[in-house]
Amino acid sequence: MVLAWTSLIGMDEHSNSKTPVTLLGLGNMGTALARAWLAAGHPLTVWNRTPERAEPLVREGARAAATPAEAVASAAGPVVLCLLDDASVGETLDGADLRGKEVVNLTTSTPAQSRERARWAEERGARALSGGIMAVPPMIGRPETGGYVLYSGDRALFERHRETLAAPAGTRFVGEDPGHAALHDIALLSAMTGMFAGMTHAFALVAPEKDLDRSGFAALLAEWLGAMSGAAHGIAAQLESGDYTQGVASSLAMMAAADDTLLTTARDQSVDPRLLVPYMELMRRRVAQGHGAEGLAGVVGLLSGE
Ligand code: NDP
Repeated sequence: MVLAWTSLIGMDEHSNSKTPVTLLGLGNMGTALARAWLAAGHPLTVWNRTPERAEPLVREGARAAATPAEAVASAAGPVVLCLLDDASVGETLDGADLRGKEVVNLTTSTPAQSRERARWAEERGARALSGGIMAVPPMIGRPETGGYVLYSGDRALFERHRETLAAPAGTRFVGEDPGHAALHDIALLSAMTGMFAGMTHAFALVAPEKDLDRSGFAALLAEWLGAMSGAAHGIAAQLESGDYTQGVASSLAMMAAADDTLLTTARDQSVDPRLLVPYMELMRRRVAQGHGAEGLAGVVGLLSGE
């Protein structure tokens, strides 16, 4: 009798050493996650409210569950949720028996929602990990793009499934508070929003100049923002020491004085300065309070009500 090589080493043809994953939610992000786990060889069970969205994945090797309760009941590994919002997580898991299950919630939520959802799952007998995805779907399964997922909550659960969770994107564990993944996520997105506001204003300033090379300007802009992003480390050091003048090379007083040049140029270029003005007003207020020698941590203090 001829034995398959798998039998000779004690495996049957269907065995798979990869952790099985159960995924609830097959929107754009959920589908990208599903494909990454399939590509990495993980047995995958999927469920989606609109069942048709599971069909291509079933053809690619996933198993479709008829209901969330059935998907959760059959889960022998992490149950990952990637749904629209926290309310849809509640609706989806309502009626599922979570006892002994490992819930990994990657649905974008507020920190408070994440804490409450983790507590809710734990009350129902599950272990819980919260996540915030810092990537867009085309970055999933492509580590070279630098996308990653922030995790917080049950550290042991994260460690146990670290390798499985790393299949779609890099992983960053940011603490045992289940709200901290969401807090980091929202803080990073908020910083990005400010950066986009600055970019928008910058492009508006050069827009009237018909002979200006837009792509050349874009390259300068991206390089400049990259160089300036290091200021984050200075702010952190000042906040940690409590001395907001520590290591200051560009004081609030100097920056507030330069604001007039920025505003005059906006007026000369017929650009509405509304994206800059609120931030400039905060800097001026801090200077007026006698803190002109501080760096940007002084504005953090002002915003936090110090
Ligand atoms: P989509 O809008 O593409 O998909 C939403 C998913 O949620 C679908 O599976 C949808 O099911 C499901 N859903 C919505 N409401 C309910 C409900 N009441 N009950 C059950 N299922 C429901 O969103 P994405 O996949 O893009 O995003 C999913 C999560 O990933 C979100 O939290 C998002 O913030 C986060 N994320 C997305 C990024 C992106 O660029 N796409 C980037 C980073 C994070 P159905 O198919 O039936 O409508």
